[in-house]
Amino acid sequence: MTLHPAVAAFIADAPKAELHLHLVGSASAATVARLARRHGSPVVPHDEQLVVDHLRFVDFPHFIDVYSGVNALVTEPIDVVDLIDGAARDLARQHVRYAEMAITPYDNVLAGIAYAELVDALADGRRLARGHGVEFAWIYDIAGERGLPAAEATLRFALERPPDGLVGFGLAGAEAGVGRSRFAPYFDTARAVGLRSVPHAGEGDGPASVWCALGYLRADRIGHGVRAVEDDRLVTHLVERQIPLEVCPSSNVCTGVVPSIAAHPIGTLIDAGAFVTVNTDDPPMFSTTLTDEYLRVADAFSLDLDTVVALHRNAVTASFMPDTLRVELLTGIDDAAARCR
Ligand SMILES: [Zn+2]
Repeated sequence: MTLHPAVAAFIADAPKAELHLHLVGSASAATVARLARRHGSPVVPHDEQLVVDHLRFVDFPHFIDVYSGVNALVTEPIDVVDLIDGAARDLARQHVRYAEMAITPYDNVLAGIAYAELVDALADGRRLARGHGVEFAWIYDIAGERGLPAAEATLRFALERPPDGLVGFGLAGAEAGVGRSRFAPYFDTARAVGLRSVPHAGEGDGPASVWCALGYLRADRIGHGVRAVEDDRLVTHLVERQIPLEVCPSSNVCTGVVPSIAAHPIGTLIDAGAFVTVNTDDPPMFSTTLTDEYLRVADAFSLDLDTVVALHRNAVTASFMPDTLRVELLTGIDDAAARCR
């Protein structure tokens, strides 16, 4: 394990893009404490320092409890605004200039937020984030375990009143036992109106889920996708087509997909020439940040500066950001690299 000082300096300095970040999972301790106080939660601590311990990952059942507990605090539009604003502050500190955040509108509406209010909250949050120098775009996620009613409603929301900045249509939640194929008609319609297909696959389930995401859902990117390494033919396919993978290393370690960062398939995928991007998933719940993810991967696989620069560029290239911002960020990454050589 070697982390070259020039690599560490570049990671600290470079502008970044985050492609895999969930609204509820992005909540820092300060934001969670604020929501807990607002709603008088009997479960989630009201004190920020206690929330830090509360959020810390122990095991998967505990993570589900914590995630559900925070999710249950998101019942008013102001909660959504606070989550976005808090995430933007955290991202700005790491020079993350652009983030695609997964929103699960079906869950928000079930929790009591009227859909029109949610759209307004996303607009308010996006405006506040711009004040911190962070541009947000939205992915509308279906929670897979909620089945076709969730798919139906999520598509209807996206078609009837898409929020500004809606760029993608996703499928998250449980993978195992949740066949990807039955969601195909919903993804076809979403793609027909210009939304990109960004389903999770190859995380909780094996290579077959990635093949299904590609075949049935016409995935433009794969959320996680790391279990593709179990199928050589799939890795070859992903490399040939250069389909971006939204890799979230610490998330995979915490949830037990892989035993450690050192054993993570990201090294194999980079060596094979796959289109790898580095992301966080639910950073405070996995005790990480995007900066930390780059540092951990660079250290574990002794990545050189060129490889780390390429990973930063990949996230920008694989994003659905406006071209003007894309050019600006790619130039910024190259400038940061030049300062570190
Ligand atoms: Zn995810």
